[in-house]
Amino acid sequence: MNEASIPLPIPPGDWLGMIGGGQLGRMYCHAAQSLGYKVAVLDPDAQSPAGAVADLHIRAAYDDPVGLRQLAERCKAITTEFENVPAQSLETLASVSLVRPGAHSVAIVQDRIREKAFIESTGVPVAPYAAIHAQQDIDAVPEDLFPGILKAARLGYDGKGQARVNTREEARQALQAFGGVACVLEALLPLASELSVVMARAADGQAVFYPSARNEHRDGILAVSIVDAQLADQAIAIQAANAALAIAEGLRYVGVMCVEFFVLQDGRLIANEIAPRPHNSGHYTMNASVCSQFEQQVRVTAGMPLGDTASLCSVVMLNILGDVWFDRASGLKREPDWTAVLAVPGAKLHLYGKSEARRGRKMGHVNVLGATLAEAESAASRVALALDIPFQP
Ligand code: ATP
Ligand code: MG
Repeated sequence: MNEASIPLPIPPGDWLGMIGGGQLGRMYCHAAQSLGYKVAVLDPDAQSPAGAVADLHIRAAYDDPVGLRQLAERCKAITTEFENVPAQSLETLASVSLVRPGAHSVAIVQDRIREKAFIESTGVPVAPYAAIHAQQDIDAVPEDLFPGILKAARLGYDGKGQARVNTREEARQALQAFGGVACVLEALLPLASELSVVMARAADGQAVFYPSARNEHRDGILAVSIVDAQLADQAIAIQAANAALAIAEGLRYVGVMCVEFFVLQDGRLIANEIAPRPHNSGHYTMNASVCSQFEQQVRVTAGMPLGDTASLCSVVMLNILGDVWFDRASGLKREPDWTAVLAVPGAKLHLYGKSEARRGRKMGHVNVLGATLAEAESAASRVALALDIPFQP
């Protein structure tokens, strides 16, 4: 069997495959199961959030031939929840099953050097940057890349594998500290705000977009995403959606994808990076959109019609990090006050079932809904207070 011989759509009752056992895989399982599908998750971790809710958990490494074969034999279509899955594994699976997104797209996106060059090739602006393969490359970069950020080309997330560098000398030191791995050095830009667009593109080229979310990061980790349902057709949101479409079409992408953008102080829109999967900034769609980004991923994987991305209301998404389990004054571990969170009208709590809370670890999120943004923000302030999360409406 190969891709062309798999009859589409894949009906509910059949198996879908997920590579990766994190929270994105878990929420995919929930969405697939509520449509009547069964899900097999491939992940080596016995405690993984997705493995715990999957219909079948194949405990094997992402490049384990036996695990991959088991997954492919069970599932007609397979997707992924993280960009660091070996592109070779997707290639192998694609000889037996439908794989969405394809290995070609993931291979580009998982390498910042290829990703930046690719985005530029579609005509969408990126931050001024240089590819760094060795110390000599740092000697040659233009002075206007400083102050800058050195980012490891592969395997970074949540600001890990990144260092702010003010001078060429600091860049040399940072590169050495990263063990000399391939990097991009990009100019530190004056940001006015950050936004992201989650979209889905089907095999026939049809695409749908969710309203763009305004994102706030703390210490390189997403903290808050906000969607004002009344502002969905702002000019900058339309510009971002068009840029995301150009990128998706250039990749001949099939699946759910997110593009993170910077809005500069002079109003320019710059693409930061692509996630070949649902995204933390799209978690708001679970409660504030007709079809969530995870249901969307199920639909695209199964070859079903794309879902309705219309907004139901305004929403503030607050990420819940492991920090919330540590009392601010004493530093001692405590259980967060879930009762107080659930007492707030409009608050929808999602916890990922991770057994150990560590600082900086994503443990869950709350979508706080409101008929207007002001209403959502005022309820979000109460949730933030209950969890001791900083939030300024
Ligand atoms: P994640 O996987 O969580 O998205 P990441 O590790 O891939 O994070 P980036 O998205 O590259 O990292 O950067 C994280 C954050 O750091 C950005 O959202 C932004 O706030 C800030 N940042 C990154 N690059 C720049 C830049 N060139 N100029 C200014 N700020 C930046
Ligand atoms: Mg990012």
